[in-house]
Formats: sequence, structure tokens, C-alpha cells
Amino acid sequence: MSVILVTGGSGLVGKAIQYVIETEPEGSRFGKKPGETWVFAGSADGDLRDQAQTKKLFEKYKPTHVIHLAALVGGLFANMKYKLDFLRDNVLINDNVLHTSHLTGVKKVISCLSTCVYPDKVEYPLDETKIHLGLPHDSNFGYAYAKRMVDVSNHAYKDQFGHNFTSAIPTNVFGPHDNYDLESAHVIPGLVHKCYLAKKNGTPFVVGGTGKPLRQFIYSQDLAKLFIWMLRNYDDVEPLILSVDETEEVSIKQVADAIVKAVGFEGEYTFDTARADGQFRKPASNKKLLSLVGDFQFTPFEQALDESVKWFLENYDTARTGKQQ
Ligand code: NAP
Ligand code: GDP
Repeated sequence: MSVILVTGGSGLVGKAIQYVIETEPEGSRFGKKPGETWVFAGSADGDLRDQAQTKKLFEKYKPTHVIHLAALVGGLFANMKYKLDFLRDNVLINDNVLHTSHLTGVKKVISCLSTCVYPDKVEYPLDETKIHLGLPHDSNFGYAYAKRMVDVSNHAYKDQFGHNFTSAIPTNVFGPHDNYDLESAHVIPGLVHKCYLAKKNGTPFVVGGTGKPLRQFIYSQDLAKLFIWMLRNYDDVEPLILSVDETEEVSIKQVADAIVKAVGFEGEYTFDTARADGQFRKPASNKKLLSLVGDFQFTPFEQALDESVKWFLENYDTARTGKQQ
């Protein structure tokens, strides 16, 4: 019998794991296995910045395994504005989750890092050995250092106690249940919302920055399957990059073009070059993942984007859109 607690279970990635677990056939590669109980916890179930509330959550569900996704998460503009919050909230959340897992005898924890935490100046492509090889980009050093410490903690728990605590490193994620707040969102949900409003209000669609930076995107449902695979098959303390191929970088302009098409927007479309571009690129290698996972099909970018836009349009009234306009 195992109890898998997914922290951050109400967010983009948590909801995708819940969807996969509930829709893949029971007993199949990514479906629920007999004897498994899955618990998806959001911040309403306990504020993980608080040690006592974290302990209470663990006492309630008695997890044997934890997929730890809970974090203060945001796009470039939120990371630039709230560096201390990104540092402190995430340091507290991660320390509480890992230490409570240690104290309560959790058998395995997979935490979530990001390719955003890598050094700004490092040889590309990024791989699992390069996380600590230099300073992060100035735009998100709070988030980056908090997340890097998870890898440091995992090694310390392993060396001192022999624990099976590890981490996954996704690239930019998108999909249903994303955060669509106009200012704090990542680029895809932010631009989907902006494009929707431009179409609805007959106003220009304005993309931040030059449109030239490159990113790798992973569909939340693909990422969810990879987390489930990791839970069952990956028992090494070293992190694992969960990403599409490094040749599949997409420019922000290509992203905006695909969003215009998916939303059906026909009005004026411009770039606000006064806004920051952030890191120019951060291509990550999925070589290690592909050497371990076997057969795995990533959803084509445009198909995943169409599905995400469709979800947003159908769920606009309940989606995390921030202020309604
Ligand atoms: P998200 O949609 O913003 O969800 C964040 C989750 O964390 C929510 O369930 C939220 O709960 C929970 N949470 C936040 N603060 C909390 C607190 N103090 N106590 C308890 N729970 C708290 O984020 P996501 O995109 O799914 O991100 C999941 C993980 O992937 C994070 O670790 C993130 O760093 C990582 N990641 C994300 C991306 C990306 O592009 N989105 C890329 C790389 C890595 P409520 O919503 O209930 O408040
Ligand atoms: P990053 O990968 O951590 O930098 O995160 P984002 O998902 O926030 O992507 C940032 C890139 O998208 C930068 O090059 C921004 O200039 C560009 N971008 C363009 N418009 C937007 C927007 O509306 N929101 C966000 N977050 N980024 C935007």
C-alpha cells in the first residue's frame, strides 16, 4: 500500500498529474496501480511555509511517497519584482516538506526544480551536471537559489541518512489550469490571456520584449506522465531534466504567432521592446531522460497549445485570470 502526496496539487502540474492518474487505464504505465492512494493538496490544505501546518498535513495523510510541486511560481516579470518572496517562500516550503518527509519516514521524495535555476553563463546545452556552475540570471536569482538548495538538501539527506530524495528539472511548462494572471503568468498563459482580451475588446495584442528569446516548452500532461514514470523507476539523487529535445527551441515570436492562430485573433500585433527579454536562451538536453525512459511520445507543440487555449476559453470564468477585464 502506498500513499502518494502531491504538494502543489491544485496547480498547473499537479492538476495534470491528477488528470493522467484519473484517466489512464488503471494498472497501465501511467495509470493508478492497485494499492495506491493519491492525494492532491493545495495551499488551502495547509500553508507549507509553516512548519506546524506542514506537519499536520503529513499527519493527516501519512504519505509514503511525495511529489513535491508546491512553490511560489511566476513568470519573468513576477520574478524580477518579488525576489525576496521567491527566495524566502520557496526556501521555507522546501525545507518544511523535505524535513517533515525525513521525520515521518517518507520513502521517496521527488521535488521540482526548473531550467530557470541554471547559471546564466554556462556552456550549452544545459545538463544535470551544470546546476551549480555559476551565478543565475539576475532576473530570478531569488527563485534560482531557493530551488538550487533542494538539490543540495537532497544530497545531504542522502549522505547523512541514505534517503531516496531526488529532483526533476522541467523546462517552461504550459497547459490547462495554468496561472493566466496578466502580470505574474509565464509567457504562454500570459499571452493567451492578452490575445483573448485583444480579440474581445478590439485592442492591439502587445507582446513583451523583442520576441527573439528562445525557450523549450513541455506540455503539462507530458510532464505529468514523466513524473509518474520517475516515481516508479528513478531512484538516484542526481536530478533529471524532463524536456523535449534541445533542437525544439521556439522563439517568443513563434509562440505569439501560434497563439494568434489558436485564439483566432485578426487585429494589430506589436512588441513592447521596453519590456525585459530575460535570459536569451537556456536549451536543455534530454539525453539522460531518453536513455532511461524508453518509448515516450511528446505531444506536438501546436496541438498542445490548441488544447490549452481551448481549455482557457471554455474555463475563462473559473480560470486563474487574476483581475477580470
Ligand atoms: P502553479 O500552477 O502556480 O501551482 C503552484 C502550486 O503550489 C499550487 O498548488 C499552490 O496552491 C501551491 N502553493 C503555493 N504556495 C504554497 C504554500 N505556501 N503552501 C502550500 N502550497 C502552496 O505552479 P506550477 O506551474 O504547477 O509549478 C509546479 C512546480 O513546477 C513548481 O515547483 C515550479 O517551480 C515548477 N516549474 C514550473 C514551471 C512552469 O513553467 N510553470 C517550469 C519549471 C518548473 P494553491 O494554488 O492552492 O494556492
Ligand atoms: P522565463 O523562461 O523564466 O523567462 O519565463 P517566462 O515564461 O515568463 O518567459 C519570458 C519570456 O517571454 C521573455 O523573453 C519575455 O520578454 C517574453 N514575454 C513576452 N510577453 C510576455 C508576457 O506577457 N508574460 C511573460 N511572462 N513573458 C512574456
